Amino acid sequence: MELTDKHLIAFETACKKAGLKITHQRMEIYRELLMADDHPTAEMLHQRLRGRLPSISIDTIYRTLTTLASHGLINRVETAENLSRFEVTLSPHHHLICSSCHTIVDFNWPQLPELPLPREAQEWGKINTTTIVIYGTCAACQK
Ligand SMILES: [Zn+2]
Ligand SMILES: [Zn+2]
Repeated sequence: MELTDKHLIAFETACKKAGLKITHQRMEIYRELLMADDHPTAEMLHQRLRGRLPSISIDTIYRTLTTLASHGLINRVETAENLSRFEVTLSPHHHLICSSCHTIVDFNWPQLPELPLPREAQEWGKINTTTIVIYGTCAACQK
């Protein structure tokens, strides 16, 4: 079985668990996001899906992404921009965001969970996840 199929089956199971209906559109949006490695916006997904789903609107895609994100089935990437970017998170990772070309690149920091959090963070409350976002200008944009 292909890896993509495995992820799609896992997604169906997760949808059922979350009480979400499995629709053709939902599956296609998820499949497209699964194959994307650029943390697309709803608009970007719309352009890619239009060939297969000519009647789908940006609004439907955006609503689907928001629903899936609110159930933790996909991840809304926190950026400083007002356009939401999404991804399927197969393993926890952090982001490098270029403020010039808006490219988002994943990076891993396996040592991070071993680092002690500053006191303010520890005393603030219960922490579920720690995600690092680094903003700057990528090497390509510096040229
Ligand atoms: Zn850049
Ligand atoms: Zn990512």
